[in-house]
Amino acid sequence: MLDINKHDPSAQRAPLIARPRRLRTSAALRDMLRETELNARDFIYPLFVRHGKGKTEIRSMPGIYQLSVDEAVREAETAAKSGVKSVILFGIPASKDPVGLENFAPDGIVQQAIRAIKREFPEMIVVTDVCLCEYTDHGHCGVLNTGDAYRPELPEGYVLNDPTLDVLSKVALSHAECGADIVAPSGMMDAMVSSIRTALDESGYENLPILSYAVKYASSFYGPFREAADGAPKFGDRKSHQMDPANVREALREAALDIEEGADMLMVKPALAYLDVIRVVKNAFPEMPMAAYNVSGEYAMVKAAATNGWVDEARVTLETLTAIKRAGADVIITYHALDAAKWLK
Ligand SMILES: [Zn+2]
Repeated sequence: MLDINKHDPSAQRAPLIARPRRLRTSAALRDMLRETELNARDFIYPLFVRHGKGKTEIRSMPGIYQLSVDEAVREAETAAKSGVKSVILFGIPASKDPVGLENFAPDGIVQQAIRAIKREFPEMIVVTDVCLCEYTDHGHCGVLNTGDAYRPELPEGYVLNDPTLDVLSKVALSHAECGADIVAPSGMMDAMVSSIRTALDESGYENLPILSYAVKYASSFYGPFREAADGAPKFGDRKSHQMDPANVREALREAALDIEEGADMLMVKPALAYLDVIRVVKNAFPEMPMAAYNVSGEYAMVKAAATNGWVDEARVTLETLTAIKRAGADVIITYHALDAAKWLK
């Protein structure tokens, strides 16, 4: 313990050579030396599209809506005007069934939205989420082990990997045909990237990039999204395909496999509780463009605290997004995109 009484201010001390504070004395110096800079063009803005007219606010995600196609086009326009150059689409179908037929229907809700947004804003990068959970009546990310497909060696209701790959390929192809710029498989099925790559290539879409949700955890931070996309599993959970939050070495294996299968970009999801994972994956594969998903639960917590006046929404949001980028993300999928773009101006 330092004895303050023994401190003699006149005592001769060695000169301090290193004084990091020298470089923090003025705002101009701090600006010059900032290591991480956020830009509106780093953001991908999620849009939830549904049939019908108008828009409905999602209770647990203030400021985020389920949008009809025309409203989604309007929202894309707002994004473009604020400097956000990319959206990712999630669809809420008119009806659900065990396979999720609307997911690859030519007039499916996402298919309509891709065409409408690309028609109005050809420059906008339209990313599409490719999974089954929003379209299936059971709410799971794949074809279930039941009925005709039943495999006795696997648990009843288990998500069957290879039959699901066929559906994912059909979905990705149908998005490609509507003009999607990037397809993003999110179901954590083994070999989903190579299956989609093959299907796209065979149909002449060899130049369409795949952004793989390579490292996606079975996280409790997805709660509000399930209300937004109406995609909560009707029973069980997603732990047989999404990763255990306790694991990080496994993230490297998932990322390496997806690169081998032809992924053009990788993603870590969620972002905030997984900054270490983003960094580890970035260090292992620095050549790969990396996305991170700042998920619904992360957004909802900031909104709730800000509504109560407990945190400064703008500052907390920009600090969070900066941290995600500093951890190694090149692009960030975030519900804060439009607000953050405004605050960055
Ligand atoms: Zn899913």
